[in-house]
Amino acid sequence: MKKLIFVTGGVCSSLGKGIAASSLGALMEARGFNVRMVKIDPYLNVDAGTMSPYQHGEVYVTDDGAETDLDLGNYGRFTKAPLSRINSITTGQVYKTVIERERAGDFLGRTVQVIPHITDEIKRRILLVADEAEVDITIIEVGGTVGDMESVPFLEAARQLIHEFGRQNAISVHVTLVPAVSGGEIKTKPTQHAVKELQEIGIQPDVLVLRSKEALGIELRKKISSFTNVELEGVISGYDVAAIYELPLVYHAQGIDSFILKKMNVESRHAELGPWQAVVQKIRHPASKVRIGVVGKYMELHDAYKSVWEALAHGGIANNAQVELVKIDSSSLEADPDTTGSPVDKRLEEAFAGVDGILVPGGFGSRGIEGMVEAARYARIKGLPYFGICLGMQIMVIEYARNVALMSDAHSGEFSKTTKHPVVSLLEEQIDVKAYGGTMRLGASESKTREGSAIRRAYGTESIFERHRHRYEVSNAFKDRLEAAGLIVAATTPDGCLVEACEWPNHPWGLGVQFHPEFKSRPTRAHPLFAAFIAACRRP
Ligand code: GLN
Repeated sequence: MKKLIFVTGGVCSSLGKGIAASSLGALMEARGFNVRMVKIDPYLNVDAGTMSPYQHGEVYVTDDGAETDLDLGNYGRFTKAPLSRINSITTGQVYKTVIERERAGDFLGRTVQVIPHITDEIKRRILLVADEAEVDITIIEVGGTVGDMESVPFLEAARQLIHEFGRQNAISVHVTLVPAVSGGEIKTKPTQHAVKELQEIGIQPDVLVLRSKEALGIELRKKISSFTNVELEGVISGYDVAAIYELPLVYHAQGIDSFILKKMNVESRHAELGPWQAVVQKIRHPASKVRIGVVGKYMELHDAYKSVWEALAHGGIANNAQVELVKIDSSSLEADPDTTGSPVDKRLEEAFAGVDGILVPGGFGSRGIEGMVEAARYARIKGLPYFGICLGMQIMVIEYARNVALMSDAHSGEFSKTTKHPVVSLLEEQIDVKAYGGTMRLGASESKTREGSAIRRAYGTESIFERHRHRYEVSNAFKDRLEAAGLIVAATTPDGCLVEACEWPNHPWGLGVQFHPEFKSRPTRAHPLFAAFIAACRRP
């Protein structure tokens, strides 16, 4: 029998439901089960693709080119569950399907309603994942907070599925907050209310994950258990940890996996947690420290580059090094009139003092672009390792074109309509595209790495598959000139038509990639490019 685990949140948002769901996924995998993950986002956008990083954080891209919520990134880091379009459900998608079916005449004669038509469509989408032949356990995270208007149809669908599957096959995990008020007193009332709210919808939670600063003692857990009808064994303390990758071990130590499996009547297998223990061991006892300057444009919001931060940490784990992040808003590096002209101005020196390597991540729009170009120039001239991702590679090309290939007004067509040297430009087929949603080059495709390049050394293979999310490409009209000036085209599409990676000549490690390697990195298996970048940054 298929098993479902619904993960919901109470009290307030940002409690780390995604990490909780991911940690459960990791534990179920450690127990030998085949796990799938589903994220439900109760917004009307069809996907996250058109949302600003400030609104939504990073847009996580799957192999099949879906632009999804960043929690799918967490699932990808904690579990081996394959992620594609079907693992991300939004209100927008659900309504779009139902309304299209209504227009097509599928409901002829009937009134189309939230219940049953919307809820049926939600259930259909969940079961599309859960019913795959080899799947044992599907974990469904319902975004938002119980009590929000937007999540009502999703919770009703969850209630129905729990009823239809039976409580031994479908369980509810509720993540709530247990705050401490001034004076340090710990308050259980918000959790009691949050559970009541879920019960009113008709869902009795089986497990409570109590988010708090410090670990909660048995007395508090007993109190919450007695007020909520959740067995004591199911009341887990999800206290703050230094590194999120400790959580599978923290949960396991409290027996959550055994409890869930017992509830679901599944024969318990021994938990294989060796890889997680190794990760935590390395995070806790690094042999060295590496300081990485990340020069981006959405620096105030940590979530905007979520996968980049995590992939850097993984690169550290792979090298036994602690990665310290120096977040630099690229606008702050832009030369003001009286400092221009000096080859490496003071501002760059100050910003990068003590930094062992520079990473320029992806981004859209012209704000802060010149600051990134400055950062790339600094890294190139100073022989500092540089890793450019997507926009970061385009920046590397623009900088090289301007300062080495002597095309002083070189730019990307995204930022200048008048440049004589659009070294980065739109492909023919993109020029007339007017719509925004889902119109970029999206998803995984093959690239061929060049023999003798740093990128080939990092991967060890000629053929690589990485995920894209961009409109612009290095222009073939300027490729020869850039190469003649020394820029190394280190990877291309298999037909050789599009540049997928560039490297600086005579430089310790200067690599730009047109794709997003950060999406495929894991704590237990760092992405080869992040591992190689951190290795290059490590001080001897
Ligand atoms: N804005 C650039 C483009 O569309 C880069 C996109 C990105 O960094 N993801 O090509």
